[in-house]
Amino acid sequence: MSAGSADEVVTRPKMINVFQPTLGEEEVAVVREVFQSSWVGKGRRVAEFESDFAAHLGVSREHVTSTNSCTEATFLAMELLGVGPGDEVVLPTVTFVGTANAVAAYGARPVFCDVDPRTLNPTVRDVEVALTPATKAVLLLHYGGYPGEVAQIAQLCRDRGVKLIEDAANAQASRVDGRACGVIGDIGVWSFDHAKIAVAVDGGVLYARDPELTARAVRLAYFGMEQATGYAEAMRGTSRWWDFEVSSFSRRSIMNDVLAAVGSVQLRKLADFVARRRVIADRYDAVLGDVPGLLLPPPLPPGHESSYYLYWVQMDPAIRDQVARDLYERGVYTTYRYPLLHKVRAYGADNRLPNAERVAQTTLCLPLHQGLTDADVDLITTALAESVAARAAAHAPA
Ligand SMILES: *Cc1c(COP(=O)(O)O)cnc(C)c1O
Repeated sequence: MSAGSADEVVTRPKMINVFQPTLGEEEVAVVREVFQSSWVGKGRRVAEFESDFAAHLGVSREHVTSTNSCTEATFLAMELLGVGPGDEVVLPTVTFVGTANAVAAYGARPVFCDVDPRTLNPTVRDVEVALTPATKAVLLLHYGGYPGEVAQIAQLCRDRGVKLIEDAANAQASRVDGRACGVIGDIGVWSFDHAKIAVAVDGGVLYARDPELTARAVRLAYFGMEQATGYAEAMRGTSRWWDFEVSSFSRRSIMNDVLAAVGSVQLRKLADFVARRRVIADRYDAVLGDVPGLLLPPPLPPGHESSYYLYWVQMDPAIRDQVARDLYERGVYTTYRYPLLHKVRAYGADNRLPNAERVAQTTLCLPLHQGLTDADVDLITTALAESVAARAAAHAPA
């Protein structure tokens, strides 16, 4: 509009986001359609979204239900497995805060384990040393979409009679030998919030190996209500379709047709999103591999497919924070995922986890999303290489 705003465009480059959804006309069109349908609550679109995601996972429909968030699905998982006081749940310290809250909220003790220093995923050994007779479940993340040792950990859990919950929020399209992450353990949960790859603006999905648990999750997600009859049955008999029973004093955790419609459109694009993210990750590998002082994510083992949710670099902890500030100054957001939960006082952990404590000081997550242009990627790699070189020189021993 004014010369002033034009100046601002010139002097203030746009920030390159770490996470960014790709939402466009197709999503707007489907939201308009739902608005015009006169039904925006949980209905046909939610059922379609659940079927679409079950097909994507390669599991039958009865194992899958949607929720209003992944966090809510994780809380439901605790309830489905009967996690409670006296129980321990093992989870990596490098994981999302909501998962530990779910454990603690049900009165169980979150037991944090260490991670591999390069993949930031717990190894089977990290999990094994944290198991005790009180362990009820292991709650795993696939860091950045990298499956990690989930298959071996699933075997360990089966051997020990411990349930495995996969927080597959980073891993919408990740696979191990063709099997989707999230359906390798007993329960899987996914997020479709604004910062994920395929987004429904908000929303979650829960998978349970045992379809009885899925059926219970459906009731738990809607006040614990047991509907005695449907309309058709009620019309034939003497009952009333508005009558119900309550089997648990539960909350309201359901998705709606507006969000689900967006989610279904995004699921159709997920493979393309991941393909573009992979090209960007490959570009980072190729260009940043030559930068002295940077460690890159290790190559994926054979049979592993990543969603490329995060791309992380590791460097001397003496320069990491300053490098993040340098990049910010040049219009590039970076971040570190996930701040260590065993350091959060509220959880009451007092163990030392040396690998995790080190990676929290050395690791920086670069922007990685399908909306990045090649020019963005060039700017990011150039700014990072220059900053690391300059800051490393400044910190070199005299
Ligand atoms: C985003 C995310 C969540 C939370 O998902 P919501 O849908 O926002 O509740 C949980 N775990 C991980 C690993 C995540 O990345």
